[in-house]
Amino acid sequence: MKDYADIESSKLPEFQIDSKIPEGPVAEKWTNYKAHQKLVNPANKRHLDIIVVGTGLAGASAASTLGELGFNVLNFCIQDSPRRAHSIAAQGGINAAKDYQNDGDSVYRLFYDTVKGGDFRSREANVYRLAEVSNNIIDQCVAQGVPFAREYGGLLANRSFGGAQVSRTFYAKGQTGQQLLLGAYASLNRQIKKGTVKSYNRREMLDIVMIDGRARGVIMRNLITGELERYAAHAVVLATGGYGRAFFLSTNAMGCNGSAAVQAFKKGAYLANLAFTQIHPTCIPVHGEDQSK
Ligand SMILES: Cc1cc2nc3c(=O)[nH]c(=O)nc-3n(C[C@H](O)[C@H](O)[C@H](O)COP(=O)(O)OP(=O)(O)OC[C@H]3O[C@@H](n4cnc5c(N)ncnc54)[C@H](O)[C@@H]3O)c2cc1C
Repeated sequence: MKDYADIESSKLPEFQIDSKIPEGPVAEKWTNYKAHQKLVNPANKRHLDIIVVGTGLAGASAASTLGELGFNVLNFCIQDSPRRAHSIAAQGGINAAKDYQNDGDSVYRLFYDTVKGGDFRSREANVYRLAEVSNNIIDQCVAQGVPFAREYGGLLANRSFGGAQVSRTFYAKGQTGQQLLLGAYASLNRQIKKGTVKSYNRREMLDIVMIDGRARGVIMRNLITGELERYAAHAVVLATGGYGRAFFLSTNAMGCNGSAAVQAFKKGAYLANLAFTQIHPTCIPVHGEDQSK
């Protein structure tokens, strides 16, 4: 790992960018990897501490999943409650290749549309994995109690979204993010009750502690007392969301400022595709009565 000064002075070609995508054909990379990855003995998992910073859809899901697997998780968020992470603002819905509408959808089509929608810049192997597990994600969310819209007969409803030729979007009125977050929060709470996840609210990450090139801890400001606190772990997961507040026009929460990503960058992490930011219609000022949003 290089320190901040090295990064500033180095030229791009010197960077060794290795996104650690597994070998093999795109449709098999992650399946093969998962089939051969080293597993941790169940008896040893509780001896491994994992810090998860963030409680949005990414952080809450990661923390509760790791907790359920038996790891000892420390979970942090800036807000007074994990429920207030900015994921709560998402509206439209979540895609899955269930093909309930029988309109020709498939894992491959969802993969292709997502890569295309990402301007062909996404990591294809990861997008394929996303498409592959998309159906399971919907099943899990339903099991967690997310009240997706349903047809009159009781089956889950779908709508077409984002210019897709098929209807594959699962939604909960205009508040899909909020409902998904409540589901993730319920799952997180279950692990907090079981003691596998410790939840720390009103904590802002100020720094990452590196030991031998690996992230092994974090420095937090307790936003209630103002005191600095330090936490150590075997691994650190940053699930700290986007940085929409960097733009003049934004409806993102004030905490969406990229502060945690900058701390990681200072410690040598590489940031990719920073220019690829979604401009959401809700941030466009009203300029006439013909404007729909
Ligand atoms: C208006 C709107 C509509 C959207 N609609 C859709 C949609 O229809 N479909 C879709 O798929 N996506 C949609 N999105 C995008 C989607 O909501 C986000 O990509 C997703 O929710 C991000 O989740 P996250 O967990 O990564 O981040 P967040 O939910 O932002 O969570 C970040 C977490 O990190 C914490 N954090 C940040 N910095 C620090 C720090 N320094 N120290 C400690 N904690 C920190 C915060 O407290 C928070 O808990 C929409 C987004 C918006 C804003």
